[in-house]
Amino acid sequence: MLAPGRRTLLEIETWIFDLDNTLYPASCRLFDQVHARMTRFIVDRLGLSPAAALSVQQTYFREHGTTLRGLMKVNRIDPRDFLAYVHDVDLACVPPNRVLVEALAALPGRKIIHTNGSHSHAERLLDHLGIAGSFCAIFDIAAAGYEPKPALTGYRELQRRHDVIPASALMIEDMARNLVPAASLGMSTAWVRNPVDWAAAGSEGNHIHYIVDDLGAFLSTAASLHRGPVEKSASSDYLHDMSVADTIRAKLTERFAPSRLEVLDESHRHAGHEGARPGGETHFGVTIVSAAFAGLGRVARQRLVYQALAQELASRVHALSLTTLTPQEDRRTG
Ligand SMILES: [Mg+2]
Repeated sequence: MLAPGRRTLLEIETWIFDLDNTLYPASCRLFDQVHARMTRFIVDRLGLSPAAALSVQQTYFREHGTTLRGLMKVNRIDPRDFLAYVHDVDLACVPPNRVLVEALAALPGRKIIHTNGSHSHAERLLDHLGIAGSFCAIFDIAAAGYEPKPALTGYRELQRRHDVIPASALMIEDMARNLVPAASLGMSTAWVRNPVDWAAAGSEGNHIHYIVDDLGAFLSTAASLHRGPVEKSASSDYLHDMSVADTIRAKLTERFAPSRLEVLDESHRHAGHEGARPGGETHFGVTIVSAAFAGLGRVARQRLVYQALAQELASRVHALSLTTLTPQEDRRTG
């Protein structure tokens, strides 16, 4: 039911992050600046018109995986010149993300950057975001021998250099196809959902284990799961200090890796009725979107959710209204 190879977030000890459009939202359009500078670099170096340069840029991206790869192979360009030029961008458009900063700091395990960009670009961005201190290593395109993701070479080299054990590693990326090699090596994967074609290409298939719409929230949940006394997870008071809503959220995230999860306390609508308690947290409306529901009918899906929350339903929760969807169904209804 769950994608093969997927580990629970509690099993993850090494967190491998893509950089661009993963640690900051694609919507800030930093990459537009990089893209424009790539075109300008080609205009200057190859003596082409902007239109012809753009065409070369797109052809190289399509045929060689990255523009840089094409420039190196076809035009013998020094990659260091290219990278220094295209990453000379203004980071002012990249918004601060306090939730991400705190979640990374709270999350146990080591964190490594794996980027198709340069080391100095990664350092600049991590500093700008205030998260440099959370990362122990940056594995850049030079470290990968200028073989960009999704070429397997870089993943293997990263694994070797940093002694990554795939079974306890999670790779987080906005380009779905870049998760294929990670999954093939036995790592768990999380796709930071980006609807544009080039990022979503390759998002169908069982190499995607988690779908993430808000990276800060996802890592916060992971950190809170790790904070819970793991050795007590089978006992009755696991997560007992958390609110009921947070407990529901944590358990459903752990069990179903949802791409969307809404937990609404609807207790106020039942005040004075059976099962209501002062302070609420007795009646909940849950909407959960997960690939784990694929191929199952409504009743079977609800049974799974009830199983995951059996302890809460037996004690603290009086009623649960459930909407269970697969990501495909969610796209249709959304
Ligand atoms: Mg990216």
